[in-house]
Amino acid sequence: MRAITINNYGGAENLELTELPMPERRPGQVLVKTLAAGVNFIDTYQRAGIANYQKPLPLTLGLEGAGEVIESDNKQLTPGDVVAWPFAPASYAEYVTIDETKVVKVPENISPEIAAASMLQGMTAHYLVNDTFKITENTAALVHAGAGGVGLLLIQMIKQLGGQVIATASADEKRQLAIQHGADHAIDYKDFDKQINELTDDLGVDVVYDGIGQATYMQSLASLKKRGLLALFGASSGPVPLFDLQMLNSMGSLFITRPTLADYISTKTELQSRADDVFKAITNGMKVNIHKTYDLADASAAHKDIESRETSGKLILKPASDSQ
Ligand code: NDP
Repeated sequence: MRAITINNYGGAENLELTELPMPERRPGQVLVKTLAAGVNFIDTYQRAGIANYQKPLPLTLGLEGAGEVIESDNKQLTPGDVVAWPFAPASYAEYVTIDETKVVKVPENISPEIAAASMLQGMTAHYLVNDTFKITENTAALVHAGAGGVGLLLIQMIKQLGGQVIATASADEKRQLAIQHGADHAIDYKDFDKQINELTDDLGVDVVYDGIGQATYMQSLASLKKRGLLALFGASSGPVPLFDLQMLNSMGSLFITRPTLADYISTKTELQSRADDVFKAITNGMKVNIHKTYDLADASAAHKDIESRETSGKLILKPASDSQ
């Protein structure tokens, strides 16, 4: 079967289309034919060999996807069922074996592409607005990279819960997209803490959802109300350096958290209920923006694109459907 592997850590050019043997299914696993694999920032961190994300080489990349069950011992998951998953190593491949507790069934009205696109980004947006900080009708939130994959979903979920959203984005076109997805305001990054103060009568926001990290975290803290929360959920500009906690005191008794999806779907029950909520939101009209679909062989182009800062929404790889 075809798969995308790396033999060295480094740039997107290191991604190679390789012929690998079919994965061997163990008891308690399902064998799935991949119909769509999601491309995520975490894949680029693994490819680059960044500390905390490094995996042994050679490595087949990819974690997220959706596909058709081929073999299973589980009566609830029969051949032909379409399932999706957020975390199955080696998902950039035509076939994947996955623990049956790590997949969810996809409703018939949702395509494999949309299902793959809504696993990591959709469930991340879901836990951020429901569990990391509960959005209510009185909440004002700042969403960075509002036209990004997580950003567009965060905006829609916050509006659905009755909150106010100010989104940041680097280009006019992206700010328009954030507004089209429901943002009340969309601003650029220049002195964004000052722009937030102007938009909130000097109060600041209750919560900042910051997946950018190094380039934004200080101004994100300065954009918060007293006792506000910085949910630092990513590092698309690089990781935040060592931080003096005393600053949280002098900036207004602030809170900071560095959450990760794995801890918000740590049981099968939680994974299933979070995925069900996301699928329900999609059925009820939440838009999942697919930026572009690539052939599996073009994975390196997808990695270059996600790192280019020019994408809006999800990048999907499609393995060929009929070869082994
Ligand atoms: P996005 O589609 O949001 O793409 C990243 C965006 O970040 C860019 O489009 C860009 O938007 C902005 N950005 C700002 N500075 C940079 C930079 N230096 N390089 C690249 N992009 C930059 O990606 P995702 O929605 O897939 O992921 C967003 C973040 O969420 C990532 O950091 C990812 O790792 C993280 N994540 C975290 C999870 C968790 O559970 N903690 C789970 C899933 C994702 P603009 O040009 O408008 O600034």
